Amino acid sequence: MLEETGHSADGAVEAISGSESAAERAGMLVDPFGREITYLRLSVTDRCDFRCTYCMAENMTFLPKKEVLTLEEMDRLCTAFVDNGVRKVRITGGEPLVRREVMTLFRRLGRHLDTGRLEELTITTNGSQLSRFADELYDCGIRRINVSLDTLDPDRFREITRWGNLNKVLAGIEAALHAGLKVKINTVALKGVNEGELTSLIEWAHGMGMDLTLIETMPMGDIDEDRTAHYLPLSVVRGRLQEQWNLEDIDYQTGGPARYMRVKETGGRIGFITPLTHNFCESCNRVRLTCTGVLYMCLGQSHSADLRAPLRADQSNEMLNAAINEAITRKPKGHDFVIDRRRPQVSVARHMSVTGG
Ligand code: SAM
Ligand code: SF4
Repeated sequence: MLEETGHSADGAVEAISGSESAAERAGMLVDPFGREITYLRLSVTDRCDFRCTYCMAENMTFLPKKEVLTLEEMDRLCTAFVDNGVRKVRITGGEPLVRREVMTLFRRLGRHLDTGRLEELTITTNGSQLSRFADELYDCGIRRINVSLDTLDPDRFREITRWGNLNKVLAGIEAALHAGLKVKINTVALKGVNEGELTSLIEWAHGMGMDLTLIETMPMGDIDEDRTAHYLPLSVVRGRLQEQWNLEDIDYQTGGPARYMRVKETGGRIGFITPLTHNFCESCNRVRLTCTGVLYMCLGQSHSADLRAPLRADQSNEMLNAAINEAITRKPKGHDFVIDRRRPQVSVARHMSVTGG
């Protein structure tokens, strides 16, 4: 029965079959494993003003602009997902705030917040343009944002991002907080790069009232270096943090894959996203759309569906809705990320900037 959960006794996700569930009858997207798809991540551009070493090669070839969907088309696509029961949309990239006129998309999507059909519209950004856009984001109905920041050391920041300027990002974060946005910091834990700084980064974030989520590097896309050299399992990081702090397991959820702990000493929360040391697929509620309209059903697999052709072929959205529903029937059970020195090749050929994390 589809009403039954798609999880086995050990928590693993299993395919289920049978009659329609209540969610499906309500017009929601439900995958073959019984997972309701309520979260869309949309990459509005594959371009970026940084070149983070773990994310991109320095000389990247980007998509020709003519292949990229217009903001109007992106609005139509997001709206089709909202029509199909999606309750949360995250705008990402590349760097979403470098896409020209991107605020018109936020403004348009804000109407779904006004009607209550969308519960949350949010963004993941490198923070470089936040000083310019923080107030307007708030005005469009955005209340929480994620800012990626891996170090507070200006030289190290330059090394990691190649092109970034730490002061601009810090000013952007200040502007966001000042605008009333709740900010969560995302930090990729990198062996031999920022591992000695994670405690002070967490203290800084908690001191400003921000949660911080740690992420393991994932083997996506060719970069200029050997990723295994900087892979740092978060189980190791957590062990180190526990030597200094009292960490309490807490039942805090933001609808994402992070598991949270509270630091008793600071009162703040740390999230752990561990795709490599812990499989987070069983509760996956999301799909990812690229800026050319390709829908990826799993971050770590290549199953995809082209939504641009049905979007352009038919203004009524009939073909588009059919394509979305068909794609969800192919959502895979989970990813097979492995970081292994004996198998240095990437698990997934596309870069994280194609789907936006
Ligand atoms: N440019 C924006 C930013 O940096 O926040 C949004 C897109 S970026 C691809 C989204 C997130 O993915 C960032 O937090 C970044 O640190 C993370 N990321 C990029 N490549 C990664 C990789 N190979 N493994 C793990 N995280 C990665
Ligand atoms: Fe750009 Fe974000 Fe990738 Fe860094 S992580 S290169 S900021 S897309």
